[in-house]
Amino acid sequence: MKDNVVTFNRKNIEYYLFEDYLGDKHRTLSLLKKIYYEVKPIIPRKLQIFLRRIYAKKVQTKYKFIDWPIETFLVDEFKSHFNVNFDRIFETLWPNNFKYAFLITHDVDTKIGFKYIPKLVELEKKLGFVSSYNIVPYQYEVDKSLILWLLREGYEIGVHGYNHDGKLFWNLETFVSRVTKINEIIKEWNVEGFRSPATHRNWLWMQLLEIKYDSSFSDTDIYEPMPGGCFSIWPFRMGKFIELPYTLPQDHTLFQILRKKDIEIWKQKFQFLKDNYGLILVNIHPDYLDKNYHYIEEFYYWVKENMDSTCWHTLPKNVAKRFVEHLEEVHSTLQKLLFEVTPKQFKIIKKFLSEIRLRYEEK
Ligand SMILES: [Zn+2]
Repeated sequence: MKDNVVTFNRKNIEYYLFEDYLGDKHRTLSLLKKIYYEVKPIIPRKLQIFLRRIYAKKVQTKYKFIDWPIETFLVDEFKSHFNVNFDRIFETLWPNNFKYAFLITHDVDTKIGFKYIPKLVELEKKLGFVSSYNIVPYQYEVDKSLILWLLREGYEIGVHGYNHDGKLFWNLETFVSRVTKINEIIKEWNVEGFRSPATHRNWLWMQLLEIKYDSSFSDTDIYEPMPGGCFSIWPFRMGKFIELPYTLPQDHTLFQILRKKDIEIWKQKFQFLKDNYGLILVNIHPDYLDKNYHYIEEFYYWVKENMDSTCWHTLPKNVAKRFVEHLEEVHSTLQKLLFEVTPKQFKIIKKFLSEIRLRYEEK
């Protein structure tokens, strides 16, 4: 982040965390993007990737004020504000003397991805890793026995939107009409976490989801259809839920869109996050496992070798729980900055919920 664009102000930290600095327009999709989603089902896969590569070139210029893959803005600001106390304060973030956390999440976009779940689990089990699988509830056929098996094996299930058609956040009407069905699934599957398809997001609308945590924001990701970044490499409170930002670039972005041929970016970012008490959260799609398996395998083995005893490797729901149930153990400064619902947040949410009630429930 180039410092002439925004100046840091701790009193108004939501300005960064909730991506307010990008303006309200950022939370809606442009007409061109809407047209893209309308015709996407009939665009051949190869052409889709080609278009995404053109788009990637465009955002590299348009969003050059956001650094990628490592955006140090908020880390730098906290370091200069807390000065010598930075380490003392952030050391308390994680439980049991852990210094950073490593979480694996998967978005299962298609039935092909669903089919690949056991192969990925096999690799993860071999290395002693656990992860969360975000399933699309209303698109492909969801094999309940596989879900139950994942849960029995100690994995987590999350909900990945509604039907992954790219239209969930088109307008409030669409979102509201789908949210009840999403909440039904959340209850039925006993799910705590949400990730939005294509990371389309509106933090305020998302207050209608019955979730404990969300992971649709990134510290920096300029390559998504809603480019941006919350700059936080730590979990934080976003109204009624905890936000667990994904902090490593997505597999699809690196290997399909940017055509990277190695995992260097993942390694560099991992080190940066580890050095700053960060949340290392990766999103890997089983859907591209036929193409990306060797990268994922290499990365997992590298992590296994490089994570030390100060790494908290767990399920996302456990991290979210920590910041709800054991907040008093966290340094009070961090509590105030990252985990408290501020009066401003509270006011905005209250107003929104009462508007929703008026518009939709009393009809
Ligand atoms: Zn997805």
